[in-house]
Formats: sequence, structure tokens, C-alpha cells
Amino acid sequence: MRDLLLATTNQHKLEEYRAIFSDLPFRLLSLHDIPLKMDVEETGTTFTENAELKAIAYAKASGLLSLADDSGLEIDALGGAPGVYSARFAGSEASYETRFRLILEQLKGLPAEKRTARFRCVIAIAEPSGYCQTVEGILEGRIADAPHGEQGFGYDPIFLVPELGKTTAELAPEQKNRISHRGRAAQLAAALLRNWPISSAGKV
Ligand code: IMP
Repeated sequence: MRDLLLATTNQHKLEEYRAIFSDLPFRLLSLHDIPLKMDVEETGTTFTENAELKAIAYAKASGLLSLADDSGLEIDALGGAPGVYSARFAGSEASYETRFRLILEQLKGLPAEKRTARFRCVIAIAEPSGYCQTVEGILEGRIADAPHGEQGFGYDPIFLVPELGKTTAELAPEQKNRISHRGRAAQLAAALLRNWPISSAGKV
């Protein structure tokens, strides 16, 4: 059985990936399982660039097939912001609540049809050779007028899923994982891994 390094320290993401990849023919390792101390700076300007640069850096440093992701919130009325800067919006020290309240302030008075937004997640899987493939998941929605719900994290309290009439902070974790950007990207990644390395067309 081949090893797959899940290159994230985010416990929430690790649990989600472990559940979705549980039936794959890979032994799943996290950064807690290997003696590798490194931090990869997200210097890219797209989710794909950041996911690729992290997956490739970890694969080269560890010698293991490695998976990394990058995700965030894109708001149309803000020209796609906060986008790749979602985790640093309003400063890297700001709380989740400070960040989403700032967004609500910036969108104040904007009608529902102009509050369109999406969560995007790109997952990259890289070989130590540098060969890398990516998949992407998207969840379309709208920015609510006020925060609702206590579940999830980040921008969940202000991200409304119009078909459900609820924010992602009002969904149970399993329900969110089924429809979320990360859940969808992870399902695509599982499909890619099921055929790995055939899907890499001999370039491994
Ligand atoms: P990263 O993928 O760990 O770099 O996370 C980027 C940032 O995007 C997070 O810190 C959150 O602010 C935001 N984000 C990504 N996915 C979600 C989500 O599912 N719910 C709420 N916020 C999210």
C-alpha cells in the first residue's frame, strides 16, 4: 500500500479527507506523522498556484506522494475579494468575526441579487518528481445580510446557500461536506487517486 501525505495541519480538513479517502488503497499520513518541519508560503495569485506550490514542496521534501489544498471566498461585488487572501483578509491576526463583519459592512445596502459569491477549493496531488495534478470544487451562494449559525468556521455564518435558505454555519458537518467546495474537490481527488498513477499518463 502506497503512502499519501495529507499536507495540512488543519484538524478539520484532515478529518474530512480521512473520511472521504478511507476506502482508497493508500496509507494516509499527516504532517504529525513525519519528522518534517517546514512552512510553505502561499505566494501564488490563484488557488491553483498555491495548492500546487504546497503539494510539490511537500512531495519533494518528504519523498512522498503529497496532497495540499487552497480555498477561500470570492465575492462578485468586491471583484472576487477576499479570494486567495481569505485567510489574511483584514490582517492575519484578525478574528473570523472581524473579517465577516467587515464584509457585511462593505456590502451594506446591496440587494440580494448583487450579493453573489462562491467558496472555491483546489486540491493538488504531487509526486516527488514534481509531477502534479489538480481538481477544483465550487459552492455557489450569496452573502447574507447578517450572520446566522454556529457551525463550521471562517465565513460560514455569512455564506447563504439559497436553495437551502440557510448559511453554511447552520448546516450539520456531514450536510456541509456533501455540498461544500472542499467536499466536492475531495470527491474528485478520490477519483483521481483511485486511478493513480494511470491518470498521470506515465509522467510519474
Ligand atoms: P486555507 O484553504 O486553509 O488557506 O483557508 C482559506 C480561508 O478561506 C479560511 O481561513 C477561511 O477564512 C476561508 N474558507 C475556506 N473554506 C471555508 C469554508 O468552508 N467555510 C468558511 N470559510 C472558509
